[in-house]
Amino acid sequence: MKALIPELNMKELISLSHKYGADSDYVLAGGGNTSWKSDELMAVKASGTELGSITKDGFVTLSMDKLRTIRTTKYPDKREEREERALQDLMNSRLPGQEGRPSVESLLHAIIPDKYVVHTHPALVNGMTCSKDGKKMAENLFPDNCIWIPLVDPGYILAKTIDDEMSRWMNSHYEKLPDYIFLANHGVFLWGNGSKEVDRKYKDLFNTLKKVCANSDAVGIDAQKSISESFLQKVGKLAGSKGDALFSTGKEIRSLLESRETIVNLKQSLSPDHIVYMGHTPLICDDLSEDQLFKLIAKDYIDFTDKWGKEPKSILILGKGFISLGNSKKGSETARMLMLDAIRVIRISHYFGGPKFMSEEKVNFINTWEVEKYRAKLSENG
Ligand SMILES: [Zn+2]
Repeated sequence: MKALIPELNMKELISLSHKYGADSDYVLAGGGNTSWKSDELMAVKASGTELGSITKDGFVTLSMDKLRTIRTTKYPDKREEREERALQDLMNSRLPGQEGRPSVESLLHAIIPDKYVVHTHPALVNGMTCSKDGKKMAENLFPDNCIWIPLVDPGYILAKTIDDEMSRWMNSHYEKLPDYIFLANHGVFLWGNGSKEVDRKYKDLFNTLKKVCANSDAVGIDAQKSISESFLQKVGKLAGSKGDALFSTGKEIRSLLESRETIVNLKQSLSPDHIVYMGHTPLICDDLSEDQLFKLIAKDYIDFTDKWGKEPKSILILGKGFISLGNSKKGSETARMLMLDAIRVIRISHYFGGPKFMSEEKVNFINTWEVEKYRAKLSENG
């Protein structure tokens, strides 16, 4: 069966998705998602699909009635069982003939009453959501106009937390929605009944945050490489026959990589996107000769894979720069984008009291969560 979304609405949804999804200030790789809904149906991005190039087929159509049922179902307390059952119910909420895998954030979209929802992970916003004073500053910058969601388990628990916070808000605000939901260590949800409303909210959001941040620019990288191509090819092959390695450096990067003390921030995780696409922690090496460096990386690569059951995606070389690794060209490019984003988020977080990272327990959850393994696998294809 074909999706039953009116043509005009689908067109507007696609154009909103392209506008925000193709702009790296809002979304990177397979991050972010969009939706359109009526009382009966919701079209939502399929997991792992890239927003910037999404077509009609990149959306899955779900029954709003079934999504409402999930919101009132009592799931088991045990984490694995709970997530598995909730995910199964989400899959079962697809209309007949719908084959895509709905974004795990679909339930969050269903909670918001407005027609269009555009959820993104902008570095500018995450500078605030990944910071020590983020909540306090968000509530000052957007007075009585935002809901702050603390860092909780993603998936069902996140949806449930948002559902509860939203009903609390509606009860105390005569059913009037705020403009924003900020998710700690994650991103922002905003919505509207048309693209104009969505655009206005994003514009206001960015203007307000830019006034607080003297420098929210993308991280600059040098065109000149200080590492040989043949060395990078050798390193890339560690990640398989199609493996690829990219080196990046620049003034800001080198200042963060100055010493084992200054890199402490790059050893921790800011958000699920960072864990999925650049790995939850990097390999760290001194700046040695290329021969010695390769021997060290080759050994650390195996140790890392043994320890974590997955391959490293980022290598920091003290004082020099970083290498991004993937088992395809796309994988290494994505890992690089996320490392540059992490450096940008950390810089911006200093306008909000400094960075606040995800706890080890939350990082482990993402690392072992089947939903995110699926997203990581898709990012390597192509
Ligand atoms: Zn998200």
